[in-house]
Amino acid sequence: MSARIVVLSAPSGGGKTTIARAVRDRYGDRFGFSVSATTRKPRGDERDGTDYHFWTRRQFQEAVAGGTFLEHAEYAGELYGTLKSEVEKIVRSGRHVLLDIEVEGARQVREQYPPPQSVSIFILPSDPRVLLERLRQRKSESAAEIKQRLKRAKHELRQSKLFDRWIRNDDLGTAVQDVVSIADGAEGLGRQKEDIDWISNYGAGLEQQAKRFYDELQQQKG
Ligand code: ADP
Ligand code: 5GP
Repeated sequence: MSARIVVLSAPSGGGKTTIARAVRDRYGDRFGFSVSATTRKPRGDERDGTDYHFWTRRQFQEAVAGGTFLEHAEYAGELYGTLKSEVEKIVRSGRHVLLDIEVEGARQVREQYPPPQSVSIFILPSDPRVLLERLRQRKSESAAEIKQRLKRAKHELRQSKLFDRWIRNDDLGTAVQDVVSIADGAEGLGRQKEDIDWISNYGAGLEQQAKRFYDELQQQKG
């Protein structure tokens, strides 16, 4: 299988950043990570040019007008986009292109590069409780931001049906291996009957967890 565009999407806390980093670190000879542009501010130890290209809104809008982006979308009030130049650089090196992007961008990539040129992967821990736990334990968002991301997760879960593959991010090593196998063209991962049931019930499970979280916040306030 020749090099392809590998799209990783997940609701916030699903693990796409962790998995993309691990694939980049362990399989850098076979995968290149496309560094996106964004208008959001750097967090923690994030570095310009490595994690994102941190741009002003004006820079970003000029780039949109100039046709610089392969895809772009808004997420939580900030703009994010994949630069054509990043993708072309990796394609020239003969490696798979790893994109960590949200669902609207994933749709745009699928349209421009239908499978097998691209493969889109939706990532979730098996248990919705674990998703919320990981999001909370990451401690990079306020309670209000977590609430916003949980709301957005509902929409993302509906979009998950359009993805080519689903991966369970329980054990990190297994999830990384799954991404590598899928990129290399392995069939049969995800989309079994039990996976369809799993994804179909996920929204309701997450809703329950979100409600418990909101109740907890309410109690802390009162
Ligand atoms: P996303 O980029 O999808 O929002 P992250 O990659 O930031 O998610 O993962 C959310 C949190 O869960 C992070 O704190 C990360 O360290 C943790 N995490 C991700 N994958 C695993 C895993 N397989 N096992 C345990 N913790 C994980
Ligand atoms: P974060 O701010 O947490 O790094 O990312 C927020 C969301 O934006 C995540 O779902 C991430 O996958 C998505 N994202 C990051 N880069 C891009 C991009 O270039 N294009 C699109 N469409 N989404 C992106």
